[in-house]
Amino acid sequence: MTNRRALIVGGGIGGPVAAMALERAGIQAVVYEAAEAPGDHVGLFLNTSSNGLDVLRTLAVDAVGQADGVPIPYSVMWSGTGKRLGEVANGIRLQDGTVSTAIRRGLLQRVLREEAERRGVTVEFGKRLDTYRVGGDGQVIARFADGTEAEGAVLIGADGIHSATRQAMDPAAPKPTYTGLLSIGGYSHSTTISPTPDTQHFVFGSRAFFGYLVRASGEIWWFANLARADEPSRAELAGISTAEWKRRLLDLFAGDLDRIAEILQATQGEIGAYTVHDIPTIPTWHRGPVVLIGDAAHATSPNAGQGASLAMEDALVVAKCLRDLPDVEQALATYERLRRERAEKVVAYSHRIGRSKTISNPVGVWIRDLVMPFALKRFANPKAHAWIYTYHVDWDDKVA
Ligand SMILES: Cc1cc2nc3c(=O)[nH]c(=O)nc-3n(C[C@H](O)[C@H](O)[C@H](O)COP(=O)(O)OP(=O)(O)OC[C@H]3O[C@@H](n4cnc5c(N)ncnc54)[C@H](O)[C@@H]3O)c2cc1C
Repeated sequence: MTNRRALIVGGGIGGPVAAMALERAGIQAVVYEAAEAPGDHVGLFLNTSSNGLDVLRTLAVDAVGQADGVPIPYSVMWSGTGKRLGEVANGIRLQDGTVSTAIRRGLLQRVLREEAERRGVTVEFGKRLDTYRVGGDGQVIARFADGTEAEGAVLIGADGIHSATRQAMDPAAPKPTYTGLLSIGGYSHSTTISPTPDTQHFVFGSRAFFGYLVRASGEIWWFANLARADEPSRAELAGISTAEWKRRLLDLFAGDLDRIAEILQATQGEIGAYTVHDIPTIPTWHRGPVVLIGDAAHATSPNAGQGASLAMEDALVVAKCLRDLPDVEQALATYERLRRERAEKVVAYSHRIGRSKTISNPVGVWIRDLVMPFALKRFANPKAHAWIYTYHVDWDDKVA
């Protein structure tokens, strides 16, 4: 692959990381992003876990510092009534002291893109992949919605959960499934709730789930997960005003920890709302010179906080395979072999966590609050989670 061009479709999280990894492997990469302009404020915040940060460390990218991340090595679980259910480690501490960090998604995307550009990667906006074809010489030609085309030796689809690359590669591939959860969140401020450095709080309320962290400045980042059986349309969600969300959420969390109402009432700016989807398995991750990474290959719900980190891991592994194996198809098959089992295990794990958030009948809530302290000790201890957080890609190790 050296001295040949890789086309990367999608400039979210996995795309720029793949570009930097390829650049390090001596492979030129161009990122094609559908958005007309950088979306540096889209999305709320996400967990960049120790396994994802390990990838960034390999690539010498300081996303935590540059994107004003909030270190959160621990999560404390509460019942709606205020009973402390337990504490769970959110990843491991890396050798350089870095720990899992909450980062505003838009800022993370910007830091990664700017870092990739600084290293010589071109990022083109307004390039929405429509489809692609493979020429007789094995080169792949991407066609964009604006009518332009680009040619390369490999096309990496990093275009997220609704991937057009996946659709073009395998029109029969499963579509994202609605998990029955809505994710809603925003930013608040409090002078009365004490900052809790290093800790995020998860409240299993009597009707819905609430997560928050309090920065030293008093700024609060929060999200809520609500169960809703039928999937609302984007138009319906967009039509719900911030004032209306506040009203609905205050109703839903009535009777749960008082501080939830305080956080909701003090929310500044807009409240964002999204439907949560995932895809348990996608039969084909690669075909010819085309491959999927990140949510395009294994769309995960955000419950385990692994979407961004898995995309980063994929990016590093696919770049290594293209660096070390002489044949593109063989490299992409090896990448899939190295990544599929782990990624799908995380998707399934994250899906299971989602189910525990949606219990709302009083008996179920009572049993959950009773059982959870034991379950957390048994199943959510650092040893039990090591498979997620200690994953390490050795860049210098040659792929056989
Ligand atoms: C706008 C947005 C907001 C999000 N907010 C959150 C959040 O608040 N919390 C959370 O946990 N997760 C959020 N996610 C999901 C999370 O970012 C992903 O799970 C994770 O980053 C996986 O990374 P990825 O690179 O595979 O995909 P993504 O980070 O989703 O990136 C995909 C990129 O591909 C682009 N794209 C899509 N279609 C095409 C096309 N046809 N041609 C070219 N480019 C295309 C998209 O614009 C996007 O930039 C959000 C995703 C998006 C796109």
